[in-house]
Amino acid sequence: MNVHPVLYIVVPCYNEQDALPQSHDRLMKIVDEMIANGGISQDSKLLYVDDGSRDDTWKIVDRFAKESSRVAGVRLACNSGHQNALVAGLAAAVERCDITVSIDADLQDDINVIPQMVERYKDGCDIVFGVRRERKTDSWFKRTTAAMFYKMMNRLGVDTIDNHADYRLMSRRAVLALLDYKERNLFIRGIVTQLGYKTDCVYYDRSARIAGESKYPLRKMMNFAIDGITSFSVKPVRLVFTVGVVFLVIALIMLIYVLTAYFMGRAVTGWPSLILSVWLVGAFILIGLGIIGEYVGKIYTEVKNRPRYNIDLTVGFDNE
Ligand code: UDP
Ligand code: MG
Repeated sequence: MNVHPVLYIVVPCYNEQDALPQSHDRLMKIVDEMIANGGISQDSKLLYVDDGSRDDTWKIVDRFAKESSRVAGVRLACNSGHQNALVAGLAAAVERCDITVSIDADLQDDINVIPQMVERYKDGCDIVFGVRRERKTDSWFKRTTAAMFYKMMNRLGVDTIDNHADYRLMSRRAVLALLDYKERNLFIRGIVTQLGYKTDCVYYDRSARIAGESKYPLRKMMNFAIDGITSFSVKPVRLVFTVGVVFLVIALIMLIYVLTAYFMGRAVTGWPSLILSVWLVGAFILIGLGIIGEYVGKIYTEVKNRPRYNIDLTVGFDNE
């Protein structure tokens, strides 16, 4: 393990001209401090990823990079979304550094825990999650919808860390492993918990956005949630099958009911056959859909082409 690891702080930015100057000063300060007290290498950098901003974000990044050798920038040709911007940044960083820390440009996440994250890395962790202790500064709406989202994800069997967004340290090999997930619908925080490397958490209080407004309107938030669920879970499909079975049971109960009514002479002509077909056909359609869904689910996992395993250590090979 390198005692002075090269750290790249990856910052996705979308229309962040208001927040960037202030965020930049604070990030530079913490990187300089960490270099000065020997925590990280001289070659560490801030890496801004401009996610196709329509304002002056890139001009600002460009200026920072010309002012200081500690700054690098990547500009995406069009707005590709937070998760993709993050991957672009990590991919650009991974060949040049030992560790990456990803953080939002509005610095709602406390950058003062970055040194703690680096300490955990030196203790042997490959991934260190930044976890929010409380979210007083987020709106009530954002807090409750987020809580519901995490709960639902866990119910559906997607392993996510509660109150962890995309503020995390990743070692080089963890980033390389993440980049092996070739799927288009990327939900990074669901994947990193699957990598299997040693992880740890550091805790902080979340503060308000430095400047500008949230780049995650409700529409983007909903899309994000739906992507998260559907790219990790085939449970919704299983649910269709279960509902089909429930319908079948109801059809059987109806059968008994209809027969009793019929033999007691209480049934209107035509009603028994009609009502029975409604339930039976409904049940068979749903069960059929469930079975097809199961195969579609299998195809889906195949085309995602995820890596099947991830090696932690090897021993006894000649070239070590
Ligand atoms: N972001 C991005 N592309 C997008 C939307 C957002 O790169 O299409 C970035 C944004 O600049 C910020 C981060 O993603 O650095 C998180 O966005 P924001 O802080 O607006 O989200 P919130 O904290 O409100 O969930
Ligand atoms: Mg934010």
